[in-house]
Amino acid sequence: MDYQVIRKPKPDESRVKPRLPDPGDPHDAAIWETVQKELDWLPGGFLNKAYECIDRHALGPNQGKKALVWEGKNGEVETYTFAELKRESDKFANVLNGLGVEKGDRVFMLMERVPELYVAFFGGLKVGAVVGPLFSAFGPEPVKDRLLDSGAKILVTQPGLRRRIAEVIPDLQQLRHVIVANTASRDPSPLAEGDLSYEALMSEASSEWEIVETTMYDHSVMHYTSGTTGKPKGAVHCHHAIVQQYATGKWVLDLHEDDIYWCTADPGWVTGTSYGILAPWSNGVTQVIYEGGFRASAWYEVIEKHGVTVWYTAPTAIRMLMKAGTDVPKRHDLSSLRHILSVGEPLNPEAIMWGLPVFQQAIHDNWWQTETGAILIANYPAMDVRPGSMGKPIPGVEAAILDDDYVRLPVGTEGHLAIRPGWPSMFRTYWRDSERYNSRFRKGWYITGDRARVDQDGYYWFVGREDDVINTAGHLVGPFEVESVLIGHPAVAEAGVIGKPDPIAMEVVKAFVALKDGFEPSQKLRSEIMGFARERMAAGIAPREIEFLPSLPKTRSGKIMRRLLKARELGLPEGDTSTLEED
Ligand code: ATP
Ligand code: MG
Repeated sequence: MDYQVIRKPKPDESRVKPRLPDPGDPHDAAIWETVQKELDWLPGGFLNKAYECIDRHALGPNQGKKALVWEGKNGEVETYTFAELKRESDKFANVLNGLGVEKGDRVFMLMERVPELYVAFFGGLKVGAVVGPLFSAFGPEPVKDRLLDSGAKILVTQPGLRRRIAEVIPDLQQLRHVIVANTASRDPSPLAEGDLSYEALMSEASSEWEIVETTMYDHSVMHYTSGTTGKPKGAVHCHHAIVQQYATGKWVLDLHEDDIYWCTADPGWVTGTSYGILAPWSNGVTQVIYEGGFRASAWYEVIEKHGVTVWYTAPTAIRMLMKAGTDVPKRHDLSSLRHILSVGEPLNPEAIMWGLPVFQQAIHDNWWQTETGAILIANYPAMDVRPGSMGKPIPGVEAAILDDDYVRLPVGTEGHLAIRPGWPSMFRTYWRDSERYNSRFRKGWYITGDRARVDQDGYYWFVGREDDVINTAGHLVGPFEVESVLIGHPAVAEAGVIGKPDPIAMEVVKAFVALKDGFEPSQKLRSEIMGFARERMAAGIAPREIEFLPSLPKTRSGKIMRRLLKARELGLPEGDTSTLEED
């Protein structure tokens, strides 16, 4: 596959902040020291994410600035200034304090993207609790697993979601209170016995609150991983993570004072928290939060209506936009967009090429994980984009490609992607599983579980997750490479590739393909796609088999679950499917 490098003009000096480090800077702890000084901190050297995101703006010249522009499912719009978010979250901190919540207690939210979710999140941080937003589409069992595992003391939710999980509430011994926000759901149903009303508690609460003293090492946010490769793990982050969330907000998201920012991820997943709450607000930026789900025209409408300038989304969403065609975006004015980013899965080069005429710019891929808390490898706004590469490590972060003995490999060789521990937003444990946590660190490196290679210019190229890599006739093949070729075919909307056991080659490449609207599965189309793949890649790597599916199984955070495709292919148990998206 040959895609030309997408060259960038020299950055406009007036838009580049003087503190933007050179993307080529080596690993340098001094970088983090400099960034740390840009945050306000609390008296006595304490650090709290809620203070950095909300209070420091609410207490300064930005107090009247819009922090949140919320658009509900029915098109209703509400706005909240930094001062208003401070007042509301101070009140909620008082509510939690009144209910006996103490530093270190877990406060979880099962809510849609409504303003009360963000208030509860910051209120929790202000009492020193560990907050955990859960994805609102979860059914009772995944919610039960996570609330039991975390030992959450408080659950903040909405009436409809409360009804959905009613059967598991009695099993949660550590759960003391369920707080239900009716207004958020525009649902006046009476409360279940024992539940507390968010509105009633808030109407009585004082808005005077002093943030509990939290150090940079105190736990703040807990996130269960996406469950793409197995049972989700509870990654725990500290307040220190805000340093990197703030820095990457500047360096990678390129957030500036006057931006209108939209992150499409739900706070139930780490992107929706680190970049849908913490990075933009620690930078004092106005963000749009859209409660509705995916619909191509509705999404373009959000950009147009609110004048979104910086947009952070995911490959699955982009592939869905591609599937909807190029006529839909033509009906909208998208000229406000000046920077677009993607994370969560490899961004197929084809998606970038598709986006060039539609958005008049390249989509910038970047790489990180729930465990890493913030972006570690990225295509910076000022960098030339090499479609298919996730970019370069950010300043202050050292990445490497290692062999099976965890020794550094030369440029161009594929191996384990590893990171030198110690970046500020690094997770500090897997909740109640320190053994697994420790097993992720080897010979002075954090082993990410992904395979990649680095080129001579320092660009990193994702190969695949360790578990997804295919071993065919002595070659290790990353599914991404094959999938990217397949989606270059005009009929293909999505592709998921697995290794199918084979007596001779060990494994052969099998592809599952979902077609774009207007195409029907047929033997002829199958042969045509196979021929298309064979022309573009080595014979050993091109898929030997293609199976059409109406859509591919994905996690609720939008990742293709290849392990499930494989289990189904081999007739094996499906394993943990708690995060599987429903059709
Ligand atoms: P689990 O750990 O439960 O299997 P998960 O790894 O999908 O789930 P996340 O932490 O949400 O959970 O996702 C991080 C992973 O997503 C990375 O390790 C990588 O495999 C993939 N990923 C994220 N961004 C990119 C990217 N830009 N390019 C390629 N892969 C990416
Ligand atoms: Mg993972």
